[in-house]
Formats: sequence, C-alpha cells, structure tokens
Amino acid sequence: MIIIKTKREIDKMRNAGRLVGKTHDFLKKLIVPGITTKELDKAAEEYIISHNGIPAFKGYHDFPSSICTSVNEEVVHGIPGLKKLKNGDIISIDIGTIVEGYCGDGAVTYAVGDISSEAKRLIKVTEKSFFEGIKFAKKGNRLSDISNAIQNYVEKNGFSVVRDFVGHGIGQKMHEAPEIPNFGPPGLGPRLTPGMILAIEPMVNQGSYHVKILEDNWTTVTVDNKLSAHYEHTVLITDGEPELLTVV
Ligand code: MG
Repeated sequence: MIIIKTKREIDKMRNAGRLVGKTHDFLKKLIVPGITTKELDKAAEEYIISHNGIPAFKGYHDFPSSICTSVNEEVVHGIPGLKKLKNGDIISIDIGTIVEGYCGDGAVTYAVGDISSEAKRLIKVTEKSFFEGIKFAKKGNRLSDISNAIQNYVEKNGFSVVRDFVGHGIGQKMHEAPEIPNFGPPGLGPRLTPGMILAIEPMVNQGSYHVKILEDNWTTVTVDNKLSAHYEHTVLITDGEPELLTVV
C-alpha cells in the first residue's frame, strides 16, 4: 500500500530531506585524493547527529556504516573502509537520515580530482536521466512513465540501467511501497497522487547492466568491472511540479 502523506508529515519529510542535502554539501568538500571512505563516513555521521538527525543506514539490516560509499565499479552499498581515494576515481555517496521519525534518502556520484571525460559523461547522463524521469512525476501519470523516461535517456546515451536495484516509496520507513524500477514500458503501475513521496534513484553502468554482490553481502559491483554512477532524490508528488526534498 502506498502511504499518502499528510501536510504535517510532508513538513517532517522536508526536514529529513534537507538534512540529506546539507550533508551532501558538507561532504563533497572533503572528497579529495588521499581521504579514506571511512573518514567520509565518520564526518557524515558527526554532521547528521550534530544536526539532530539519525544516520538511517547505520544498523539497517545490520549495515555497519552511516553512509554508503561506492567507488568506480562499485554500484551501490559500498561499505566505508581504509582504502584511500585516488585522483581519477569516482565515488557514489548515498546518505539516509531520520529526523523526528521521518526519513530522507539521496545519492550523488562525485569526481575525485580530475576524472576521464567518459567518467564525467557517465555522471552527467545519470543525473540528467533522473531529471528526464521526474518530468513525468506528475499527478495522474503512471509510475512507470518515470521508469521508462529514465531508461530511454540512459540507453540513448550508450549506457545501461541496473535492473537488480530499484527506487522506492519512503516515509516513516526508509523503504515503502511502491518499488520504482529505472526501466520498463510506460503506462503501468499506480497513478501518481499528490502526497506520495518517492526516492527515485537511477543506477547507471558504463558497460552491461549486470551486477553482483561481493562476499561482504553488501558491496555491489559491475560484473564487467566498468564504472557505475548513482543519482537519487526524495521527491514529493504535488498538484503541480514535483518537489525535491533532498536539497538544501
Ligand atoms: Mg534509496
């Protein structure tokens, strides 16, 4: 069942979302060659807690860290560790917060130092695919109109959309109905209704869309070892344009 949020709940979701946006703004300045993903995790955790939030991912199904850090061929759910970022890497950072019992969720892929033009293009196409998708995040459309627009844009640009992970509804729980694939035909699924809040999150691979999960049971990588990028906002369906909640 898709939970339609009340005005009071939407205000709380705005607060949780804004903290996700602020944490991204804070973290992106720290992303330089030589920093470890664990140091980024610690900085994010302290930032979220000092702004009256709870890091939503820590302990979620036993995930050990406050943020997910997925480097290069890692797609999602990378666990922060002692490896140092190098010039030319790309890093996807996924941040979840809980503020007054409501969740926010947002991911961005960042460049570490100078990256290749193909890596830049991958990041750009991934971000743009999200915005192509939310052109359809309007009252009365079907959910899969968003999915289809994302897939079309990504494939037109020669990249592929991950099939094994999808976006999701979000509210008091981090993952609520509906599931939101980033692929598939248009015209299917529930009709979008004001008060729905959706975490829309294209995961885009440079090569094939096939992924696998490593032995740590979390880190997901591309099977062909090529790069992957991620872009996510928590999005409110309104009577007019969709509202991005995970922005400052
Ligand atoms: Mg998400």
